[in-house]
Amino acid sequence: MAPTLTIVVPCFNEEESLPTTAEKLRTKLADLEAEQLVSGESRILFVDDGSHDQTWAIIDELAKASSAYSGVKLSRNVGHQNALIAGLEHVKTDICISIDADLQDDINAIDDMVRRYRLGSHVVYGVRKDRSSDSPFKRNTAQLFYRAMSRLGVESVENHADFRLLSSEALAALLSMREANVYLRGMVPLVGFPAACVYYDRAARFAGQSKYPLKKMLALAVNGVTSLSVVPLRIIAAFGMIMSFFAGLMSLWVIAAKLFGNAVPGWTSTNLIIVFMGGVQMLALGVVGEYVGCIYLEVKRRPKYFVEKATEA
Ligand code: UDP
Ligand code: MG
Repeated sequence: MAPTLTIVVPCFNEEESLPTTAEKLRTKLADLEAEQLVSGESRILFVDDGSHDQTWAIIDELAKASSAYSGVKLSRNVGHQNALIAGLEHVKTDICISIDADLQDDINAIDDMVRRYRLGSHVVYGVRKDRSSDSPFKRNTAQLFYRAMSRLGVESVENHADFRLLSSEALAALLSMREANVYLRGMVPLVGFPAACVYYDRAARFAGQSKYPLKKMLALAVNGVTSLSVVPLRIIAAFGMIMSFFAGLMSLWVIAAKLFGNAVPGWTSTNLIIVFMGGVQMLALGVVGEYVGCIYLEVKRRPKYFVEKATEA
């Protein structure tokens, strides 16, 4: 029996790309059905992440025109990762695939994803062959970030973002992680299950602007680190130990200088030490604070999103 598929598409101010995206995805679904890779019950689910433009109106129209489309509208913008979670929590089918609304990820990779699932993989990662369609800035910062993440002990699939297939079992496992601080591409490898990769070329955005300004990218990076690694805290502790060791040596030297009577007024060295230690302590406090902030948000257990309305099934 062919599995039933839901394609989950988070949308934030995507009025420009949505009509084309919807059409392309529906054609893809029809092709998949014709090849008997997926069942005729398969659907496309749009999540409107609090858009200010015509995004919801378009989704609503689409859902009225064809039963292949459905949508949920969130009460406000909660960010890509949370919007994805909202979509995933509405999935009731055998498998789901998440993809961005700008279709930068090649929808033709979906066929192979479904084939890999049918061969026994519960998680299929869409992996970009290279990053040539990115700006040099995005390419370099992304590379630096992923390298740092792997140093920090966070397992992730290189050049994979949020284009992936999950079986209902893997999805249930993923959704059982109830953390408020979500970084999906770091969480998915933690669920285990047999996994596979499908490679594709990533295109440039065909319409509209990137909805990931530097600020959101940085927030995602900080989330990724704090939600999956405590190594930064250990680095601080290690640094503190090294500093204490030198402080011990310094005290011996200072006392000896005093005893032997050659303690001279040391304005420069004193200032340097104060400034340096002040800086290091502020930085360390900042990192610790980041984690405390995360704990604060986690213990509140606030819902990650609220649904304002959904299209009629
Ligand atoms: N997105 C979202 N909420 C946000 C920001 C982005 O749902 O607050 C969606 C957006 O509509 C798109 C996907 O997340 O479907 C990825 O965003 P984008 O393509 O702008 O990111 P980029 O490809 O530039 O990293
Ligand atoms: Mg994009």
